[in-house]
Order: sequence, then C-alpha cells, then structure tokens
Amino acid sequence: MRGKLMVGNWKMNGSLAANAALLSDILAGMGELSCRAAVCVPAPYLAQAQRLLSGSALWLGAQDVSAHDAGAYTGEVSADMLRDFAVRYCIVGHSERRQYHGETDAQVAAKVQRALSAGITPIVCLGESLSEREAGLTEAVVKRQLAAVIQANGHCISEIVVAYEPVWAIGTGLTASPDQAQQVHAVLRAQLRAASAHAERVPIVYGGSMGAANAADLLAQPDVDGGLIGGAALRATEFLSLLTTASC
Ligand code: PEP
Repeated sequence: MRGKLMVGNWKMNGSLAANAALLSDILAGMGELSCRAAVCVPAPYLAQAQRLLSGSALWLGAQDVSAHDAGAYTGEVSADMLRDFAVRYCIVGHSERRQYHGETDAQVAAKVQRALSAGITPIVCLGESLSEREAGLTEAVVKRQLAAVIQANGHCISEIVVAYEPVWAIGTGLTASPDQAQQVHAVLRAQLRAASAHAERVPIVYGGSMGAANAADLLAQPDVDGGLIGGAALRATEFLSLLTTASC
C-alpha cells in the first residue's frame, strides 16, 4: 500500500511572521496522521521552516532545484544546498516554471536527476493546458512529459512522486472530476509499470484547486495517491481538513 501523500505548495507567498503563524496552527491541529504530509516553502524560508518543523510529522519541501551541480548559475539553488536544510521533497517542473520560465521536458528531467542524486524526492509535475485537453491531447502530453523523466532517470524512476496537475485547474477553482483525474493517473501508472518493476511504489498525486469540497472524491480514486495543494495550503484549517480527509 502506498498510503496518501499530501503536499502544500506555498508558491511565492509568506513572510517570517506569516509562516510562523501558519506552521504553528498546522502543527497544533495535526494530531496523529496516517498520511504523509509536507509543505514546500519558498527557498529563503527553508531555514525557518526546518527549525519550526523539526521533530514534527510534517516534512519540509522546496519548490524548485537547479539542473546544475554548482558554479556560475546566479540565483539558482542546488540540490546539495537543499539537502543542507533537510529538504525531503522538491517540486520539479511545476506548470508555472514551465510556463513563465520556459522549462523544457529535458530540463525538468535533469532537475529530477539532481534531486535524486542528493537523496531528495522530486515531485514531478505534469499536466495539459486547456487547449491541449480540448484538442484531445491530454494523454499524449502527460506521457511525453513523463517519458522524458523516465528516459533520463532509468531504474531510479520508482523513487519519484508524480503530480498530475491539469494546468487549467491550477489556481482557477476548476477541478478535474474524479473520473478525469483517475483516467490520467491510470495512464501514468501504466507508463510507470512499463518502465519499472517497482512502479506500484510511486505515489501519483493530483493537483489543481483541491480543497475541502472535492478532496474526498478525488482521493477515493484507486490511482489518486494524494494531493499537491496550492491555495488551500495557505489556510491552516483547510489544509488540516485535507490531511484529515487523506488520513481516513
Ligand atoms: C499548485 O500550485 O500546485 C496547485 C495545485 O495550486 P492550487 O491548489 O491553488 O490550484
């Protein structure tokens, strides 16, 4: 059994004061969890979050990692640097990075390699745009995105987390229906099975306007192993209710 994995993506939100309040409320309300949970914080707050989460059941995550080891890459953060802060998970290839920073499938695959070699679990984001969905290209797009990661990472592929995040559902309030999500997750699961004997281990989480109103139905799907949560992860009560739903 994979169990559920619930990950908050704070994106470019927060401040020292706001983070302290949010994490303190989450930790105070968390109790015993039977799902795994993490928060991916902006890089400048890794040290603060590492300190506040120390000894808790909430794992620390980052939102991006450099495709390079070290050197003249101004502004980049390496996987080894993330490891210095006990980062357990790192989002890679989020659609906002692909869209606003032109990240290609090959760059995403290289970032996945860096994270894995530093012992950090990459959460690899895949998903189609609205026009791709409307053109019937959903399967082709997510398979192409995952294929690049599989090709570059070979037998390590069972160490990743996959996040299916339809671009049209991120931050829009639109959510894939449970059936739509399950359909794509099943395609990704089959692709992982063809690549690795250990594919069953790979959590495939859903992201895109997940909230208290839709989480239970999405998480009930056989191939939906958790959530990548943006907006709702910034509100302690809603994030906690998602953790409770995932723990059922
Ligand atoms: C995300 O940023 O990965 C995300 C899923 O955001 P939201 O939940 O706000 O749609």
